[in-house]
Amino acid sequence: MRLSQAQTAVGRTVKCPNCGATFEITPDALAYVCKYCGWMGSTEDVSAKGWLMAEPVSSAKAQQSIAEFLKKTLKHAYSQTQIIEFKGLAVPIYIAQVHAKTRYNGYRQETRTESYPMTVFDGKGGRRTEMRTKSYPVYFPVEGEFDEILDYPVLGRKHAVFFGLEDLKKKVLSSNEKPLDVKVFLNQKSECLDVEVEEGEVKVMAETMAEDEHRARAEAMTTKLFDCYTDDQLLSTKLIFYPVYTAKYSYRGKSFRIAIDGSSGAIVKAELPLTLSLRIGYAMAGYAGVALATLSGLFLLDTNEPIVGIVATVIGLGLAGWSFFKATAEQRIKRG
Ligand SMILES: [Zn+2]
Repeated sequence: MRLSQAQTAVGRTVKCPNCGATFEITPDALAYVCKYCGWMGSTEDVSAKGWLMAEPVSSAKAQQSIAEFLKKTLKHAYSQTQIIEFKGLAVPIYIAQVHAKTRYNGYRQETRTESYPMTVFDGKGGRRTEMRTKSYPVYFPVEGEFDEILDYPVLGRKHAVFFGLEDLKKKVLSSNEKPLDVKVFLNQKSECLDVEVEEGEVKVMAETMAEDEHRARAEAMTTKLFDCYTDDQLLSTKLIFYPVYTAKYSYRGKSFRIAIDGSSGAIVKAELPLTLSLRIGYAMAGYAGVALATLSGLFLLDTNEPIVGIVATVIGLGLAGWSFFKATAEQRIKRG
């Protein structure tokens, strides 16, 4: 089957170049399968654009990866889970390479501590020398320069916010890419999302990110930053269609989300229910905290060491609060 570009009309009605049928596709889709003859096409000439892709693992492998992950993390509670939604996406993500040069200056404040001898009179005519310390602030002028090439992932969609996206974006920087072939995604029943963000917008976003990163670094090196000037230049952009599989599963009437790196099949981010055994564990830690806080009251009565009692009370109450909070939470998040 040859891949070809179909003619697009207003409202995303496409005409199949193979059988001539016209039909509607979702406005978000870049690629589609003709529902009459099975022809696979795209709304844009992707090869002319030089777009790239990261090869996806099969949707079967992604589902297997979810099952293994849930089995491992939920143990016996796994049998009560059920996949209620599963879909594949090819998400357009730009990688923008920026050459950023920043010059900054300011000052840094440090505290110096100095020891000095002091003569002490004991009131009985004798005297001796003791060492004392004093602290005072010192100021250093700081100036520096950053000159480096930075890579930033920029989402090619305006509103495609999905669970795990931020974690996934980082994976794109280390992906093996090849020319985009939408058929590879369509064969996995994955949806190819169309590109909404123009290169001009990518340039502005990447340069802003480089400036912000350099400024934050300069601020971390100074107590007060006087000047910070970044000169940046966009060196290149490339657009990679990165595969992701997202799923929802149910456990005891509630649903939880999972995102899978479609390039490796690894879990990117997952919501997990708090199973009964975990709740019991947290509750026990909570009671231990209450016991510690109570016992520390006894130390408080011992006026020689009140600090021990106070510290133990604070730790005990903190532990109790945190544990009971965890024990009653609806879910927890795990990152891959
Ligand atoms: Zn057709």
